[in-house]
Amino acid sequence: MGAMRPHERRHQTFSAIKKKMKSDYTYKDKGNTKWYYISKINVVCPKCSNKSTLNTPNQNQREPEIKCSKCYYSKKGYEYLVSSKVQKIVCENCDSIFDLETKNLPKRVKKANCKCPDCNHQNQVEVKFDLYKKGGMYNQQAKDQYFGLDFWYKTNFKNNCFWAYNLEHLNEIEEYVTAGVRKRHLGEYQSMIEKLPKWISSKKNREELLKTIDKLKKKTAENKA
Ligand SMILES: [Zn+2]
Ligand SMILES: [Zn+2]
Repeated sequence: MGAMRPHERRHQTFSAIKKKMKSDYTYKDKGNTKWYYISKINVVCPKCSNKSTLNTPNQNQREPEIKCSKCYYSKKGYEYLVSSKVQKIVCENCDSIFDLETKNLPKRVKKANCKCPDCNHQNQVEVKFDLYKKGGMYNQQAKDQYFGLDFWYKTNFKNNCFWAYNLEHLNEIEEYVTAGVRKRHLGEYQSMIEKLPKWISSKKNREELLKTIDKLKKKTAENKA
């Protein structure tokens, strides 16, 4: 099977995906990190609730900017959500992101133990008391860090929050989940795929996850009408 172009993948039907699942479809990790996908995040427009686009800061644009092509809502600039009371922790074992409440910790403490709610791993983390205006990482609730808007591609999956930044990201996860054979990349950085939580990589969730992804894609189509 030849490589499919992105626009072809977009229109894959669920039956086509199921067919792939039955065949020995091989996924090859391209090694992209999350930074490859994060430049444009699809979020729920705060004005009209349609799919809008958040451009995250980069070398050319220093400020985040949200634009809705439906209602022409737009907003530029920082509106950080992260207060100094909460620190975002990335679990060193499973890469889940969760909150560490710092408000009750003595100010001198340098390290704290905190248990990952997803895998129970005990993380020892450096406590940072002042995260205000730094933004922190994106969070487990799948809201953007600048304006606190819900990601468009976001849904509940067996008590986990399944999300993607945008369609390209969602397609990549779909390709990976579809595949019976999964090949690792050789790059030196951990890829977005390698950082996916175990319930996404677990093959027993394959079919249900693909249905979930399919529903998320249809959500877009309905809203375009
Ligand atoms: Zn709008
Ligand atoms: Zn964990």
